[in-house]
Parts: sequence; C-alpha cells; structure tokens
Amino acid sequence: MVASFQSTFNPARIIFGPGKLDAVADEIAGQGASRALILSTPFQKADAVALAEVLGDKAAGVFADAAMHTPVKVTEQAMAQYNETGADCVVALGGGSTIGLGKAIAYRNDCPQIVVATTYAGSEVTPILGQTEDGIKTTVRDASILPEVVIYDPLLTLGLPVGMSVTSGLNAMAHSVEALYAKDKNPVTSLMAVEGIRALRDALPVIVKTPEDEAARGEALYGSWLCGSVLGTVGMSLHHKLCHTLGGSFDTPHAETHAILIPHTTAYNEAVAKADLQPAADLFDGDLGTGLWEFARDLGAPLSLRDLGLAEDDLDKAADIAVKNPYWNPRPVEREAIRALLQNAWAGNRPTSGG
Ligand code: NAD
Repeated sequence: MVASFQSTFNPARIIFGPGKLDAVADEIAGQGASRALILSTPFQKADAVALAEVLGDKAAGVFADAAMHTPVKVTEQAMAQYNETGADCVVALGGGSTIGLGKAIAYRNDCPQIVVATTYAGSEVTPILGQTEDGIKTTVRDASILPEVVIYDPLLTLGLPVGMSVTSGLNAMAHSVEALYAKDKNPVTSLMAVEGIRALRDALPVIVKTPEDEAARGEALYGSWLCGSVLGTVGMSLHHKLCHTLGGSFDTPHAETHAILIPHTTAYNEAVAKADLQPAADLFDGDLGTGLWEFARDLGAPLSLRDLGLAEDDLDKAADIAVKNPYWNPRPVEREAIRALLQNAWAGNRPTSGG
C-alpha cells in the first residue's frame, strides 16, 4: 500500500548527452538572455575560456576564481565583473565550487543560471547554497538558487581524476542513501535514489579501470543527476550532519569525508531503517553499510578519517558538535554511539551497527 505523501519536485531543464556542451548558446537564448558570464575554478579556466570563444558575443567574459565553500569575497568580485560587463546570465562550468558561485550570484540578482556539471556532487539540481564569510559557513535555501538549466555532457568528465571520480560518486550515493529513509520521502524519490545508487555501482568500477570509458562516464553522470535530485527534494539526516560538522569545524575535504562516512552512517541507521534501505542493500548482496564499505575499499577510496588529517583528539569535540541540533534521523542520535561511529571511521575499520 502506498502511504500518504506530498511532493514538490524542483523545476529545472535537464539536457543530457555526449557533446551537449554545444547546447549552451541555445540555452542562453532560451532563458531570454544574451550575454553570459562564464564561471570556473582556476583549474578549469582553459575550458571556460574555450567555451567563451565558442560563444563569441554571447559571452560577457570569464571569471575563473571560484573556490571551495563559496567565499562571499569571491562572490563580490564576480558580481562586480558581472555588472561591469553587462552580463545578463551566468554559465557555471564545473563542480560544486563553481556551481556554488553561480548560485550565490543568482541569489543576489536572480539572474538565470545555466550549469554545465562536471563532477558527481549534485549541487546543480538543488535550491541550496552554502557560503562562507569570516570563517563561518551559512546555508540558505531559496527558489532563486536553483539553476534553470543543467547540461550533463559525459565527455567533459573523461578527465575527472579517478580518485575524485570515486569520492565524488560516493558523495552522490550518500544523498540517495539518506533519501531512502528521509521523513519526507515518497515512492518516486525512492525509485530515483535506488536507480542512482545502481548506476554509480555499475559505473565506478569501470571508471577506475578505464577512466576514459564514455559509456561508464555517462552512467555515472546519470546516477549523479538522480542522487542530486533527491538531495534537492527531501531532507537529509545524520550522515550529512556529520559531514557538515567535520567539514565546517575541522576543514576535512568534502567528497572524501562523505566517501569515508557513508558506510558507517548507513550501518548506524540500517539497524532501524532496514526495510527502507533493502532495495539498495540488494544491489550489494547483503547489508548496505558493509556493502558500501567493501565497494569503496575495492575502488581504492580513502577509508579512514585519520588519513584526512583529523586528529584522534578531535573526535570528542566532533561528537559533541554533531549531536547538538541534530537533523531529523530515523535512529536517535546518541552521543556515545556517534563517538564510537567516529572512532571506527577514524581508524578505517568495517562499519558496525552499534556505532
Ligand atoms: P569542486 O567543485 O570543488 O571541484 C574540485 C576540483 O576538481 C576543482 O579544481 C575543479 O575545477 C576540478 N574539476 C571539476 N570537474 C572536473 C573535471 N571534469 N575534470 C577535471 N577537473 C575537474 O568539487 P565538488 O565535490 O564537485 O564540490 C564540492 C563543493 O560543492 C563543496 O563546497 C560542497 O559544499 C558543495 N556542494 C553543494 C551542494 C548543494 O546542494 N549546495 C551539493 C553538493 C556539494
């Protein structure tokens, strides 16, 4: 029996396929715009400049200083260039850092955003923006933040380094795992979540062996779209709270932190959310927490928080912060169990349901 539910899906236009970067010019016009400021990180500047050259007078310029955690100072510099050049939309070419900058601009001036997503993090399909000022990260959710158009071109991900492909893919899977037991889940978000995990489960081992495999790159990007979509639609729980705690207070890197913690947080919640997680567990022949840990290990993903430079002495403080104002979670968030979970993840051990 289908239980009662409510659902609001985020309206976004999705264009998917090899070579679809070519669609940017038409999509700028489709938004009623004519001059785009192209955004990227310094690392992807050459790609942004090449895109600007192809766009010709539809490009107002390139701003290639996007940075992790969307610093407000960087947004202000980009806004100044946006205004000086008479831009009327942005094209964000990159992963979550670049997409965050596009969102921060749109949050301030409501300009249309076209995103060309090149990692699996999923930010392109959420109305959520995290930005930092004076070392403090704040998160806002607003309709103006959701990009209007998302282009997924697997060819642009062929050069995403294998290590980042793996951690970014596990980051995407973490959105779907939490969507399966979300308080506000519905039958469609659960279908999307399982299919997203399935696609990444199939694609990532192929990418590790053959990074330039176009079909696997397409499959991974398709999975990341599904995982990002559920992140933008339903509430997240313990796993995302722990990742925000470690990233926010101890500066651990985003995708790696997700990759290391997801088997442990899954095992913690699997103790009470077994039925919700079963369709995903079936993809890994057994418990989902253990299955994800073995999957990550076999892909060569980092397994221990220690390897990210987190000190063992910090685990008490991390547990204290994580249990303060917890997000809704299917299993009560108890300090001692969370401390044990963190110890296990710090050491790189197999996950256990006790912590
Ligand atoms: P990222 O955007 O920081 O990218 C990491 C590096 O990889 C950058 O130098 C980038 O230029 C490079 N890169 C990206 N794509 C590449 C490609 N295809 N080939 C070669 N190099 C490439 O990493 P990320 O994990 O995508 O994003 C992390 C950030 O996104 C965090 O700040 C996180 O908080 C945010 N995020 C936000 C949301 C949201 O909904 N608001 C969701 C997920 C992540």
